[in-house]
Amino acid sequence: MVIKDEEMDMEFAKKLEAELKDNFSKCFQCGTCTASCPVGEVTQYRVRKLMRMAQLGLKERILNMDDLWDCTTCAICKARCPWDVDPLSTILKLRRESIKDGHEQEKHKKFSDAIKATGNAFGEKEPMPSVSNPKAKYVYFPGCVASYRQKDVFDATIKILDMIGVDYEIPEGLACCGSVLMRTGHEEEFEAIKEKNLKLLKGKNIITSCAGCYATLKADYGLDVNHITDIIKENIDKLPLKEIKKKVMYHDPCHLGRKFDYYDIPREIIEAIPGVELIPFDEEKENSQCCGAGGGVKSARPEIANDLAQKRMDEAKEKNADVVLSSCPFCELNLADNNNDIPVMDILNLLMEAMEVKA
Ligand code: SF4
Ligand code: SF4
Repeated sequence: MVIKDEEMDMEFAKKLEAELKDNFSKCFQCGTCTASCPVGEVTQYRVRKLMRMAQLGLKERILNMDDLWDCTTCAICKARCPWDVDPLSTILKLRRESIKDGHEQEKHKKFSDAIKATGNAFGEKEPMPSVSNPKAKYVYFPGCVASYRQKDVFDATIKILDMIGVDYEIPEGLACCGSVLMRTGHEEEFEAIKEKNLKLLKGKNIITSCAGCYATLKADYGLDVNHITDIIKENIDKLPLKEIKKKVMYHDPCHLGRKFDYYDIPREIIEAIPGVELIPFDEEKENSQCCGAGGGVKSARPEIANDLAQKRMDEAKEKNADVVLSSCPFCELNLADNNNDIPVMDILNLLMEAMEVKA
């Protein structure tokens, strides 16, 4: 890469450093992030190079570069950096700067406009489902994908909460959690949707069935959030599980697994189903490979999302899995789009099958 002196905007580099501090300046260009990045395996995207360009203040190049939108926000670069640098924070900051500089991706504008107009990322006119029960102990936050695309996850959640006797409400007026806005640099739009949701969620105990909603409500809203699998684990004895003879593989969602070390509970639930054999992916838990859908990649870079999901599903085929399971409807949507004829389902739906209950 040939760099001209006049391209180096040190004011821009200083501005990044002021916000990102050690995360930014400590990078010593070892390349471990690039070697770990799943997107780098299927494209020319190189996260180490992006970090160097940021350190050198190559503002115009960075803010205009297409590669900035290739990252799925899987966070494996952050987990593996030997210097405790967080490249993902740098990427998210650069995305925010790029949006402010007028480089919004057309596909991202579409869902940002949809959220503004309808409260959901798909632009569906129907409001999110609601259940009135103001004295309930919990609020169930279904999120866009389970409400409008993977409805079997929504239905199974409601059925299982009823079966185990957990009292919940779904307040009228809930909107998208804003995960996709935040991860694609739409700072103002994210703050607006967060404020709207917080009016209904503040001070409540929340349950969600989506890994993206879980990460956003917990880390970015600062709320007390349970993933549905956590509630089920505590109540597993109340579910009349019958034997199912199936060889299953569990895909760790990045926003649940690597970001919160949430690995064991989903596996314990799967193993509680009699007859089910859980076989591992070669790379799982903290090393799990991303499904490819996050960070706005499924909409703006569908070829990357498909390539990464295909790798996951190819391994499932090689290992003769009967089913691939996850605990995030968005991962499930992307894996199912590339499924190699292997069913992809949520753990909740396998539980429903084991109880012979229709969602
Ligand atoms: S792994 Fe860490 S130190 Fe190494 S190049 Fe990547 S961000 Fe920099
Ligand atoms: S978050 Fe994942 S996709 Fe993005 S740069 Fe890091 S390793 Fe690559």
